[in-house]
Amino acid sequence: MRDKFNKFMQGRYGVDNLSRFTMGAALVLIILTMFVNIVNRSVGSVLDFLGIAAIVYAYFRIFSRDIQKRYEENQKYLAMTSKFRLRFNKEKNLMKQRKTHHIYNCPGCGQKIRIPKGKGKIEIDCPKCHTKFVKRS
Ligand SMILES: [Zn+2]
Repeated sequence: MRDKFNKFMQGRYGVDNLSRFTMGAALVLIILTMFVNIVNRSVGSVLDFLGIAAIVYAYFRIFSRDIQKRYEENQKYLAMTSKFRLRFNKEKNLMKQRKTHHIYNCPGCGQKIRIPKGKGKIEIDCPKCHTKFVKRS
């Protein structure tokens, strides 16, 4: 069975970031369809169609033999989403840091400054403009 599948996939493009995203979007659309169908059937059928179209598109790309073209599509997708992914990772890091650090804005220049929690009252020296201010951490 596995051999057959491997033979079938030979020379085909396979899964990439874009097809993973398309599959995820399809799943969201299909789940959404179930809820929207309760309220509005015609909107539901549009979502249903989009969900199926997304699955078809994902499989079309996975099984495609035009590897160069699929690769370029994936690169385009990655370039388009890089800003978003960067911001998302930044927010995630900030959330993590908020557990162990206070984040203050410098009153002089607005620079964000991280102070570890639980140090009591401390004087902060802004590394950018050297404004000194006192905060409780
Ligand atoms: Zn400053």
